[in-house]
Parts: sequence; structure tokens; C-alpha cells
Amino acid sequence: MTIKLSKTSKLDGIMSWSLQALDTCPGSKAKDGGLVDACRGCYATTGNYRFKNVKAPREFNREDWQRPDWVEDMVSALDSSRYFRWFDSGDMYALELAEKIRKVMLLTPWCNHWLPTRMHKFAKFAPVIASMEILPNVVVRRSSDSVNGGTIAGATSSTIISGQDQLPAGATLCRAYEHGGTCNGCRACYDKAAPVIAYMAHGKSMAKVIRIMEAA
Ligand code: SF4
Repeated sequence: MTIKLSKTSKLDGIMSWSLQALDTCPGSKAKDGGLVDACRGCYATTGNYRFKNVKAPREFNREDWQRPDWVEDMVSALDSSRYFRWFDSGDMYALELAEKIRKVMLLTPWCNHWLPTRMHKFAKFAPVIASMEILPNVVVRRSSDSVNGGTIAGATSSTIISGQDQLPAGATLCRAYEHGGTCNGCRACYDKAAPVIAYMAHGKSMAKVIRIMEAA
């Protein structure tokens, strides 16, 4: 079995399966070809994410998911996982990949899956997203392009804010910033009862994006 998972300190040790950011994120592009606001400060293109040892498994995964026995191997890899986060970086850029992910979700009912994505922008992904989110153990969180609390349609989604005054009505504020950037036991992102999660903008790149937007 060659499954390569990654563990981020933020997620209380919960594992992820990831791809290289931007290369596999068609939804990060605006109509003019530039990056949408939320992706202009993407954490997954800076810091540790530039290191060879972090990039290597993401590049490996881009080929690996195409193996015929990948679904079976992923199910085995999640054997003892109660929670799993897809795409700490990258996105489910191909329909065939999305179908395989849906099968893994279906075959691991003991595990709560959180899948953040911008592929909801492409109509051809609507059926597979719908068939994922009817599963009781799956939350597909559609990522908004906004960095000031703009929300999008869909059962479960997320947005970015730069201050609590931008928190959309009914949204759950991610409080990782109060716990050294860690989830600290919170599992709201995996919970269908939390329709919108608002993440506080963080990092130098995102702060710069917000400054530029505010000055415009
Ligand atoms: S909302 Fe909760 S589960 Fe989601 S990233 Fe923030 S702390 Fe973690």
C-alpha cells in the first residue's frame, strides 16, 4: 500500500490527503485568469508548503489516485480514523478523482469526512457533490472566494473574514486563532449542523490581500 497521508498540527493530528495547491485548483482562477481573492493569500503556497518534503507527497498523490486499487487502499488507511480532512492543499480537480473519493467516503461510514472545495463552480461536479453530501458521514464545504464574509449557496460552505464585524448571520466562527492555530477539540467543519464556517484571515499574505482590497 502506498497511500501518503499528511498530518497538520492545526487539526489535532487528524490526517489529510492532499495535492499540490494551485496546480490542482481550477476553481482558484477568476474569469480574468488571476487568482480569486481568497486564493491570493493561500497558505499552501508559502512557508513549509514550499519545502521539498512537503511537496513530494502531494506530487506523488497526483499520480497515485489513478491506480485501480487506490480506493481499497484508502479505505484501509482510514481503518482507525474517526475524522478525516480531504485537501489540506489542492482540490478534487478531476471527475474521476471525485468519484473515487465518494467511494472511499461510502466505504468508511465510521469516519467523518470534511471536504473543502471550489469545484462546486463547475456544473459537471454537481451530481458527485450531491451524492457525497447525502452520506451521513460527509460534509462538503463549498469555499467562498470572499475575504470579507461573503457567503455562497449550498448546504454547507465557508468564508474568510478579517474581523468579527464581518461574521455572517448564523455562521460559526473558527476559533483556532484563540488556541495557537489549532482546532483544540472543535470539529465544527465536519458537522452538517454548522452551515457556514467563517475563518479569520491569517498569515502575512492574506493580511496583504485584505490591505490591498480595503485600499481599492
Ligand atoms: S471551525 Fe473548528 S474544526 Fe474547523 S478549522 Fe476551525 S477549529 Fe478546526
